[in-house]
Amino acid sequence: NGREVPYDPEQMRKIAEHPCYSEKACHAFGRCHLPVAPKCNIQCNYCVRDYDCVNESRPGVTSRVLTPEEALYLVRRVVKEYPYVKVIGIAGPGEPLANKETFEALRLVHEEFPKLIMCISTNGLLLPESIEELDRYGVGNVTVTLNAVDPEIGEKIVSHVTYQGKTYHGREAADILLSQQLKGIEMAVAKKMFVKINTVYIPGINDDHIVEIAKRVSEMGAYTFNVIPLIPQYKFADITPPTPKEKREMQDACAPYIKQMRHCARCRSDAIGKLGQDVQSCLYRSEKTEE
Ligand code: SF4
Ligand code: SF4
Repeated sequence: NGREVPYDPEQMRKIAEHPCYSEKACHAFGRCHLPVAPKCNIQCNYCVRDYDCVNESRPGVTSRVLTPEEALYLVRRVVKEYPYVKVIGIAGPGEPLANKETFEALRLVHEEFPKLIMCISTNGLLLPESIEELDRYGVGNVTVTLNAVDPEIGEKIVSHVTYQGKTYHGREAADILLSQQLKGIEMAVAKKMFVKINTVYIPGINDDHIVEIAKRVSEMGAYTFNVIPLIPQYKFADITPPTPKEKREMQDACAPYIKQMRHCARCRSDAIGKLGQDVQSCLYRSEKTEE
């Protein structure tokens, strides 16, 4: 069930105080997302880019975008006003690693607040080339959205990827994405980062394959697995999403292989506070982290 690597106390804290990695922590501690990353480098067939990256969030209005300096300013306020917030995460509104502002924000925050737990979520395309820098800024928790470990299935889910200045489609796109994701997960585990896998449960597309994904990432040393029900839109608008019961059954089927995250709240990329008890609207309203 996940990896059996001994963790030092500092690493243990990255689970014990992270609301998404520990169900216990989610009642006591909070997270603050910094919406500094608007661009994306792939196109998932379930994503309309008018919204937050749905690999981590539910669609709604797009989160506002902050500059790295505004993000640092926000963190200063959050730390003072909401001391139970222990995690700073970057989860969009697009793909964090496709925006240089992500790295700048991580650097600024980590330099001033080295004790805060730093977290990112990513589609994985640029994870291998980003690992060193993420490690340098203290990122110890990485979520990778991985919807297939077979490119034949992956190709039904992603329509194109743009990598090193070139755009790829179809099978080629799925091949590049998968090989980068697997390489990135391996490198993150080697750096002793805690890896969470988000898998979007897409009936008729990857449902028969999800247990396979869970097995594979468990063998690779991922820490936890988060089954996310499809929100039907864009090319998958006609697919009926899994029911809560089906989602639970899928989690139960994956549970023998890897620890399941069952309390994901699908937060906006500008969420602040405890899961399900966000305070961001007041923070954004009352101060000038302005546009
Ligand atoms: Fe949308 Fe996120 Fe996929 Fe990019 S990675 S296309 S933002 S769901
Ligand atoms: Fe945690 Fe899920 Fe919210 Fe991400 S979307 S911060 S995994 S609860």
